[in-house]
Amino acid sequence: MVQVGGEVDAFCNRCQLELAHTVIAMVGGRPVKVECNTCHSVHKFKVGAAGAVRMPSTPRTPRSLTSFDSLLAARNGAQAKKYSPKSTFTVDEVIEHPNFGLGFVSALKDGGKIEVTFRTAIKTLIHGKP
Ligand SMILES: [Zn+2]
Repeated sequence: MVQVGGEVDAFCNRCQLELAHTVIAMVGGRPVKVECNTCHSVHKFKVGAAGAVRMPSTPRTPRSLTSFDSLLAARNGAQAKKYSPKSTFTVDEVIEHPNFGLGFVSALKDGGKIEVTFRTAIKTLIHGKP
């Protein structure tokens, strides 16, 4: 049974390995925030390829064109908003980028940044710039 202060195997972005982590926060019986026991960086809980726990979240990596298209269609790709660093975007909003094409906002980040999932890549872009 996983609990706060307990250990769980998770993928560490800094170490680029699946390692033992200490659970810092949990929601609904699942770890959401963990600290890497190796590099002590605190990050969101993420299971590596070998992980047994599956998190019920939206796929963040476009695995194939079909799934990307269906993800885009589910977010009303017909109403894409042209990307500009001065515009403000919200999660699930569809963006048309001059270089990357169509994508959708998959996460809001601190410091006026958004994570956008495009067909070929996931990019961090700035938005809401005065
Ligand atoms: Zn680490």
